[in-house]
Amino acid sequence: MSAGKISDKSMAGQRRIAVVGAGPAGQSAALALARAGYPVTLIDAGPGPAPAAQAADLRVFALSPASLSLLAELAVWPPPQPERISPYRRMHVWQQDPLRGLELDAAALGWSELGCIVEHGVLQHALAQGVASTPAIQCHWQARVQALDQGADEVIVQLEDGRRLSVSLLVAADGAGSPVRGLAGLTVRRHDYGQSGLVANVRCRQPHEGTARQRFLPTGPLAFLPLASGPCDCSIVWSQPHDQARHWRQAPAAHFEQALTAAMDGWLGPIELLGERALFPLARQLAERYHDNRVVLIADAAHAVHPLAGQGLNLGFLDVAALARILGAAARRDLDPGLSALLARYARERQGENALAAHGFDAIAGSYGLAGSGLDGLRDGVVGLLNTMPALKRQLVMVASGLAGR
Ligand SMILES: Cc1cc2nc3c(=O)[nH]c(=O)nc-3n(C[C@H](O)[C@H](O)[C@H](O)COP(=O)(O)OP(=O)(O)OC[C@H]3O[C@@H](n4cnc5c(N)ncnc54)[C@H](O)[C@@H]3O)c2cc1C
Repeated sequence: MSAGKISDKSMAGQRRIAVVGAGPAGQSAALALARAGYPVTLIDAGPGPAPAAQAADLRVFALSPASLSLLAELAVWPPPQPERISPYRRMHVWQQDPLRGLELDAAALGWSELGCIVEHGVLQHALAQGVASTPAIQCHWQARVQALDQGADEVIVQLEDGRRLSVSLLVAADGAGSPVRGLAGLTVRRHDYGQSGLVANVRCRQPHEGTARQRFLPTGPLAFLPLASGPCDCSIVWSQPHDQARHWRQAPAAHFEQALTAAMDGWLGPIELLGERALFPLARQLAERYHDNRVVLIADAAHAVHPLAGQGLNLGFLDVAALARILGAAARRDLDPGLSALLARYARERQGENALAAHGFDAIAGSYGLAGSGLDGLRDGVVGLLNTMPALKRQLVMVASGLAGR
């Protein structure tokens, strides 16, 4: 395509929205905004859709009921490989004594599940199929945004290959490092946890029984999420100081397996490593403002949180739902989607909630960080006491599932 400004107001009377980033948040935003009536341009640096790999992906998400209902509304859930999703019905969290930890059970709430574990590639493939079958979405792959010109009536998005797109609104869904956020001059507050999340797929001797487990160790939380690939297969996220995480990533498999088995006090039996290990540095990062002059941030571009509660993408999907609802109402009244008042409304709905969640996860991590202080047994006891308070537990699950207040 030749350089020069492309008129992207192609659908009569309709204002085009560009979404930068085709991760799960960007693809779902493109779908939701197209359904809300907008022509959408989706821009990503990557090569475009790929089929989900045969082998189980190292990156998985625990998706909440609110996320699953958004995906169902977008007609991408269940995904084309339903055999690769793993519903989880129970959650078990403890510090020292698993028998005194917190247990949450879907059945006690009258639900069939608390959520689903899905592989990154399986989710991305489902979303990509939805995007490909939506004529209102135009995709630009292997395209990076180089510059923005944020005017009163439009924002001009200049791509690295010289193309220039004129749109009414630019949605930045380009992840925690968000180049668009920087181009728009939006800043973040960052707190480095000094930890990395070591992720791997493992096989335990004991079956997972559809239970998501998390043990708080003195060095950080260790989560086991049930996988669909086998009754004893789990995805783990082991948050640890960087040097320890690096050590365990490189350690011979047998040493790693022993350490992991010991870290769970043998509760799941001997544990076998399946394949690779990967590290993700962990930081809390919150944008100070969510919008500026026709540019709006969603998902990791706006907020990155500790993975201990498995809520990062779930918060991102709540951003998508809120933005699409507000801009859908604007489309019905023929309002310009880049209006500052609309973006401020979205920010009011989401910014406080995301910050509260991020600091809430830190408070949980901090309270368990007292391990070794003599309070550990007490903490398991207090948490265990919650098991006798069904109303409070229900409220806890409603918050974690993204359904509180709905
Ligand atoms: C160890 C770990 C475990 C986690 N577990 C969970 C969990 O169980 N549940 C959960 O909800 N969340 C979880 N999270 C959080 C979750 O991974 C993130 O919230 C989610 O991946 C963010 O998705 P996104 O679409 O915002 O960004 P990304 O997935 O990072 O996508 C960003 C996209 O932007 C594109 N891009 C970047 N720069 C440019 C550019 N210059 N131009 C064009 N395109 C660009 C990239 O190619 C990419 O496609 C976990 C995180 C970690 C680290």
